[in-house]
Amino acid sequence: MNPMAAAVFAVVLVVAIGLFARRAALIYRLIRMGKPAARFDDIPGRARAEAVVVSGGRGVGSKDGFAIIEELAGLLGAAVGCSRVVTSAGWRPHSDQVGQTGTKIAPDLYIACGISGATQHMAGCKGAKRILAINADAEAPIMQNADYAVVGDLREIVPAISAEIRKTR
Ligand SMILES: Cc1cc2nc3c(=O)[nH]c(=O)nc-3n(C[C@H](O)[C@H](O)[C@H](O)COP(=O)(O)OP(=O)(O)OC[C@H]3O[C@@H](n4cnc5c(N)ncnc54)[C@H](O)[C@@H]3O)c2cc1C
Repeated sequence: MNPMAAAVFAVVLVVAIGLFARRAALIYRLIRMGKPAARFDDIPGRARAEAVVVSGGRGVGSKDGFAIIEELAGLLGAAVGCSRVVTSAGWRPHSDQVGQTGTKIAPDLYIACGISGATQHMAGCKGAKRILAINADAEAPIMQNADYAVVGDLREIVPAISAEIRKTR
Protein backbone atom coordinates (compact mmCIF):
# COMPACT_ATOMS: atom_id res chain seq x y z
CA MET A 1 0.00 0.00 0.00
CA ASN A 2 1.07 3.56 -0.68
CA PRO A 3 2.82 5.03 2.39
CA MET A 4 0.47 8.03 2.35
CA ALA A 5 -2.59 5.77 2.44
CA ALA A 6 -1.05 3.75 5.26
CA ALA A 7 -0.35 6.94 7.18
CA VAL A 8 -3.95 8.06 6.75
CA PHE A 9 -5.25 4.74 8.08
CA ALA A 10 -3.01 5.10 11.11
CA VAL A 11 -4.16 8.66 11.77
CA VAL A 12 -7.83 7.73 11.36
CA LEU A 13 -7.40 4.90 13.81
CA VAL A 14 -5.82 7.22 16.36
CA VAL A 15 -8.57 9.82 15.88
CA ALA A 16 -11.34 7.23 16.10
CA ILE A 17 -9.96 5.75 19.29
CA GLY A 18 -9.43 9.19 20.78
CA LEU A 19 -12.91 10.39 19.95
CA PHE A 20 -14.45 7.15 21.17
CA ALA A 21 -12.69 7.53 24.48
CA ARG A 22 -14.04 11.05 24.89
CA ARG A 23 -17.54 10.59 23.52
CA ALA A 24 -19.18 7.29 24.28
CA ALA A 25 -22.32 8.43 22.43
CA LEU A 26 -20.50 8.03 19.11
CA ILE A 27 -20.10 4.57 17.68
CA TYR A 28 -17.05 3.84 15.62
CA ARG A 29 -16.75 0.70 13.60
CA LEU A 30 -13.67 -0.42 11.80
CA ILE A 31 -14.57 -2.70 8.98
CA ARG A 32 -12.03 -4.84 7.22
CA MET A 33 -13.32 -6.85 4.29
CA GLY A 34 -10.09 -7.78 2.55
CA LYS A 35 -11.17 -6.91 -0.99
CA PRO A 36 -8.77 -7.65 -3.81
CA ALA A 37 -7.08 -4.60 -5.28
CA ALA A 38 -8.49 -3.29 -8.53
CA ARG A 39 -6.49 -3.48 -11.73
CA PHE A 40 -5.73 0.12 -12.60
CA ASP A 41 -5.49 -0.69 -16.29
CA ASP A 42 -9.18 -1.57 -16.34
CA ILE A 43 -10.29 1.72 -14.91
CA PRO A 44 -9.94 5.00 -16.75
CA GLY A 45 -10.09 8.28 -14.89
CA ARG A 46 -8.05 11.19 -13.69
CA ALA A 47 -7.38 9.74 -10.23
CA ARG A 48 -5.48 6.78 -11.60
CA ALA A 49 -2.26 8.54 -10.64
CA GLU A 50 -3.52 10.07 -7.41
CA ALA A 51 -2.97 8.15 -4.21
CA VAL A 52 -5.88 9.61 -2.26
CA VAL A 53 -9.24 11.16 -3.12
CA VAL A 54 -11.30 12.89 -0.43
CA SER A 55 -14.91 13.03 -1.52
CA GLY A 56 -18.00 14.70 -0.08
CA GLY A 57 -21.71 14.06 -0.43
CA ARG A 58 -24.95 15.62 0.72
CA GLY A 59 -23.82 15.09 4.29
CA VAL A 60 -21.27 17.88 3.86
CA GLY A 61 -24.28 20.18 3.98
CA SER A 62 -23.31 23.12 1.79
CA LYS A 63 -20.80 24.56 -0.64
CA ASP A 64 -18.99 26.22 2.28
CA GLY A 65 -19.00 22.90 4.11
CA PHE A 66 -16.45 21.65 1.58
CA ALA A 67 -13.80 23.79 3.26
CA ILE A 68 -13.00 20.91 5.66
CA ILE A 69 -12.91 18.42 2.76
CA GLU A 70 -10.51 20.69 0.86
CA GLU A 71 -8.40 21.16 3.98
CA LEU A 72 -7.96 17.41 4.47
CA ALA A 73 -7.31 16.89 0.76
CA GLY A 74 -4.71 19.64 0.83
CA LEU A 75 -2.89 18.06 3.76
CA LEU A 76 -2.82 14.71 1.95
CA GLY A 77 -1.99 16.07 -1.48
CA ALA A 78 -5.26 14.47 -2.54
CA ALA A 79 -7.91 15.27 -5.12
CA VAL A 80 -11.41 16.39 -4.07
CA GLY A 81 -14.38 14.39 -5.34
CA CYS A 82 -18.11 14.50 -4.72
CA SER A 83 -21.46 12.83 -5.35
CA ARG A 84 -24.04 13.88 -7.93
CA VAL A 85 -26.24 15.47 -5.28
CA VAL A 86 -23.38 17.88 -4.68
CA THR A 87 -22.91 18.81 -8.33
CA SER A 88 -26.69 19.11 -8.81
CA ALA A 89 -26.77 21.56 -5.90
CA GLY A 90 -23.97 23.58 -7.48
CA TRP A 91 -21.59 23.01 -4.56
CA ARG A 92 -18.86 21.52 -6.79
CA PRO A 93 -18.27 21.37 -10.55
CA HIS A 94 -19.32 18.31 -12.52
CA SER A 95 -15.65 17.55 -13.15
CA ASP A 96 -15.42 16.55 -9.46
CA GLN A 97 -18.31 14.11 -9.66
CA VAL A 98 -17.49 10.47 -9.03
CA GLY A 99 -19.82 7.86 -10.43
CA GLN A 100 -21.70 6.37 -13.32
CA THR A 101 -22.31 9.77 -14.89
CA GLY A 102 -19.13 11.29 -13.50
CA THR A 103 -15.51 10.18 -13.35
CA LYS A 104 -14.43 6.62 -12.64
CA ILE A 105 -11.45 6.66 -10.32
CA ALA A 106 -9.04 4.15 -8.85
CA PRO A 107 -6.99 5.74 -6.06
CA ASP A 108 -5.13 3.85 -3.35
CA LEU A 109 -7.55 5.32 -0.83
CA TYR A 110 -11.02 6.80 -1.32
CA ILE A 111 -12.31 8.76 1.67
CA ALA A 112 -16.09 9.11 1.32
CA CYS A 113 -17.52 11.74 3.65
CA GLY A 114 -21.29 11.99 4.00
CA ILE A 115 -21.90 9.82 0.95
CA SER A 116 -24.57 7.11 1.18
CA GLY A 117 -23.02 4.80 -1.41
CA ALA A 118 -25.71 4.57 -4.08
CA THR A 119 -24.91 2.08 -6.84
CA GLN A 120 -24.41 4.92 -9.32
CA HIS A 121 -21.78 6.46 -7.03
CA MET A 122 -20.04 3.18 -6.28
CA ALA A 123 -19.74 2.58 -10.03
CA GLY A 124 -17.22 5.40 -10.00
CA CYS A 125 -15.12 4.46 -6.98
CA LYS A 126 -15.25 0.67 -6.79
CA GLY A 127 -11.79 0.61 -8.34
CA ALA A 128 -10.29 2.15 -5.20
CA LYS A 129 -7.86 -0.15 -3.41
CA ARG A 130 -9.34 0.86 -0.08
CA ILE A 131 -12.45 2.82 0.90
CA LEU A 132 -12.77 4.72 4.16
CA ALA A 133 -16.35 5.81 4.86
CA ILE A 134 -17.18 8.60 7.29
CA ASN A 135 -20.92 8.60 7.81
CA ALA A 136 -23.44 9.39 10.53
CA ASP A 137 -25.46 6.30 9.63
CA ALA A 138 -23.91 2.93 10.45
CA GLU A 139 -26.45 1.31 8.11
CA ALA A 140 -25.63 3.46 5.07
CA PRO A 141 -25.06 1.28 1.97
CA ILE A 142 -21.47 2.46 1.61
CA MET A 143 -20.64 0.60 4.81
CA GLN A 144 -21.06 -2.66 2.86
CA ASN A 145 -18.30 -1.57 0.49
CA ALA A 146 -15.99 0.15 2.95
CA ASP A 147 -12.76 -1.38 4.17
CA TYR A 148 -12.75 1.06 7.08
CA ALA A 149 -15.54 3.17 8.52
CA VAL A 150 -15.94 5.86 11.11
CA VAL A 151 -19.54 6.39 12.21
CA GLY A 152 -20.24 9.92 13.34
CA ASP A 153 -20.57 13.53 12.29
CA LEU A 154 -18.08 14.34 9.53
CA ARG A 155 -18.00 17.96 10.72
CA GLU A 156 -16.29 16.66 13.84
CA ILE A 157 -14.31 13.77 12.42
CA VAL A 158 -12.78 15.35 9.31
CA PRO A 159 -11.25 18.33 11.16
CA ALA A 160 -10.00 15.95 13.85
CA ILE A 161 -8.16 13.89 11.23
CA SER A 162 -6.67 17.06 9.75
CA ALA A 163 -5.54 18.19 13.19
CA GLU A 164 -3.84 14.85 13.83
CA ILE A 165 -2.06 15.01 10.48
CA ARG A 166 -0.83 18.53 11.29
CA LYS A 167 0.63 17.26 14.56
CA THR A 168 2.79 14.81 12.63
CA ARG A 169 4.42 17.63 10.59
C1 LIG B 1 -29.04 7.61 -14.03
C2 LIG B 1 -28.42 8.05 -12.73
C3 LIG B 1 -27.07 8.36 -12.70
C4 LIG B 1 -26.45 8.77 -11.51
N1 LIG B 1 -25.11 9.04 -11.51
C5 LIG B 1 -24.51 9.36 -10.33
C6 LIG B 1 -23.10 9.60 -10.27
O1 LIG B 1 -22.39 9.56 -11.28
N2 LIG B 1 -22.56 9.88 -9.07
C7 LIG B 1 -23.31 9.95 -7.92
O2 LIG B 1 -22.73 10.22 -6.84
N3 LIG B 1 -24.62 9.74 -7.96
C8 LIG B 1 -25.26 9.48 -9.13
N4 LIG B 1 -26.60 9.31 -9.15
C9 LIG B 1 -27.37 9.65 -7.94
C10 LIG B 1 -27.37 8.54 -6.89
O3 LIG B 1 -28.43 7.65 -7.16
C11 LIG B 1 -27.56 9.13 -5.48
O4 LIG B 1 -28.75 9.90 -5.45
C12 LIG B 1 -26.41 10.02 -5.01
O5 LIG B 1 -25.19 9.36 -5.21
C13 LIG B 1 -26.59 10.32 -3.52
O6 LIG B 1 -25.64 11.27 -3.15
P1 LIG B 1 -25.19 11.37 -1.62
O7 LIG B 1 -24.66 10.06 -1.19
O8 LIG B 1 -24.30 12.56 -1.53
O9 LIG B 1 -26.54 11.77 -0.87
P2 LIG B 1 -27.48 10.89 0.08
O10 LIG B 1 -27.88 9.63 -0.58
O11 LIG B 1 -28.55 11.82 0.51
O12 LIG B 1 -26.57 10.50 1.31
C14 LIG B 1 -26.07 11.42 2.23
C15 LIG B 1 -25.32 10.65 3.30
O13 LIG B 1 -24.72 11.57 4.19
C16 LIG B 1 -24.83 11.08 5.51
N5 LIG B 1 -24.75 12.23 6.41
C17 LIG B 1 -25.64 13.25 6.56
N6 LIG B 1 -25.17 14.16 7.42
C18 LIG B 1 -23.95 13.71 7.85
C19 LIG B 1 -22.96 14.21 8.75
N7 LIG B 1 -23.10 15.39 9.36
N8 LIG B 1 -21.85 13.47 8.95
C20 LIG B 1 -21.67 12.29 8.32
N9 LIG B 1 -22.57 11.77 7.44
C21 LIG B 1 -23.69 12.47 7.22
C22 LIG B 1 -26.16 10.35 5.56
O14 LIG B 1 -26.18 9.37 6.57
C23 LIG B 1 -26.21 9.74 4.14
O15 LIG B 1 -25.66 8.42 4.14
C24 LIG B 1 -27.22 8.88 -10.33
C25 LIG B 1 -28.59 8.57 -10.36
C26 LIG B 1 -29.19 8.16 -11.54
C27 LIG B 1 -30.66 7.83 -11.54
